[in-house]
Amino acid sequence: MTDRLVLVINCGSSSLKFALRREGTGQPVISGLAERLGSPEANLQWQTGAHKDQLSLPSGNHADALSALLPLISAEASSPLAAVGHRVVHGGEHFTQAQRIDAQVIEAIKASAPLAPLHNPANLIGIEAAMQVFSATPHVAIFDTAFHQSMPAHAYRYALPDNLYTEHGIRRYGFHGTSHQYVTRQASLLTGRRADQGAWLSAHLGNGCSSCAVLDGRSLDTSMGLTPLEGLVMGTRSGDVDPNLHAHLQRTLGWDLARIEQLLNRESGLLGLSGLSNDMRQLEQARAQGHAGAQLAIDVFCYRLARSMLGLAAALPRLDGVIFTGGIGENSALIRAQTLEHMALLGLRLDNQANSNLKRGEATQIQQHGSPAILVIPTDEERQIADESLALLDH
Ligand code: AMP
Repeated sequence: MTDRLVLVINCGSSSLKFALRREGTGQPVISGLAERLGSPEANLQWQTGAHKDQLSLPSGNHADALSALLPLISAEASSPLAAVGHRVVHGGEHFTQAQRIDAQVIEAIKASAPLAPLHNPANLIGIEAAMQVFSATPHVAIFDTAFHQSMPAHAYRYALPDNLYTEHGIRRYGFHGTSHQYVTRQASLLTGRRADQGAWLSAHLGNGCSSCAVLDGRSLDTSMGLTPLEGLVMGTRSGDVDPNLHAHLQRTLGWDLARIEQLLNRESGLLGLSGLSNDMRQLEQARAQGHAGAQLAIDVFCYRLARSMLGLAAALPRLDGVIFTGGIGENSALIRAQTLEHMALLGLRLDNQANSNLKRGEATQIQQHGSPAILVIPTDEERQIADESLALLDH
């Protein structure tokens, strides 16, 4: 039983990320990425241990990339695949947990597509291609939204007329559920609790960013909403703005909706504020050299994050700790320190030495004695997807 293998797939419209995971282990057996699918430059890159390789797949599509993967997986796998686990961005209200994929589930994912027009159709391409190539293996869908289906109505409803919710599904859904679930479970284990115990505020800070309040393994509130644009400052996404901004831009600048969506999703966030980059590493370097835009972007990022987490604390009866994860959360001592400076009200006191000395990839606690825990935990969404896929099949 400990040797079961799961192929984890995460599809974009022209890309396919994959990882073959062995049950209960931290490192993938083989992992990689097919990019520019459908174009003459399509290619597949993969890594097994320290060995890296690639293959060009001119004009190859998702199914071609998966077919090229088959022999690579067979060469590495000691047993047949137990499952293929697919990341699906939006499960709407249909899905509160992982699902074995069948025709009905595919229809329901299609039905949620208007809520995630960029993501769900791409996820479906991957599912359909993989079901052809791995036809004898069970396929499981894991939804980014599912973990947040435990939010109470007072957290997930917008103050809008009721029929927009009841007839059109307009409510807060939340995303990054797989990551928040994984790191909060790890936080519980790391602090000597059962995996489903603890009151946590978790911050997933990557290119997309979200915060989440989790009590005893259940999401009670989160910063993203109907779409992954709500909430925190992100790489190129604005996060919260005045909802009247749309009308204002239309009236004053004559912008249409497509232009405004482009602004809020692709030109804002760290990139828009700094005028320099969406990449936090680059912004930290520029800030150190006195770049005012980089300084401002970092200041707004940290303050908004602290404000979001203090707001989410309203969902919790107590606070056992805060968790930082994602590329920025795991690697930036500066962002952790500056965010926590705004959170003293919760009694959080950082051990500055431990924060600065933290080794990349380490899961650890960095608070002073007597403070609620401050944890840095590398996220592992693929592992969570593999574990949930197997747990579903065992049920
Ligand atoms: P992710 O989407 O989780 O891969 O995170 C990407 C973000 O993490 C980018 O903004 C990177 O600049 C940031 N990041 C990665 N490493 C570091 C680092 N050492 N210091 C600051 N930011 C980092």
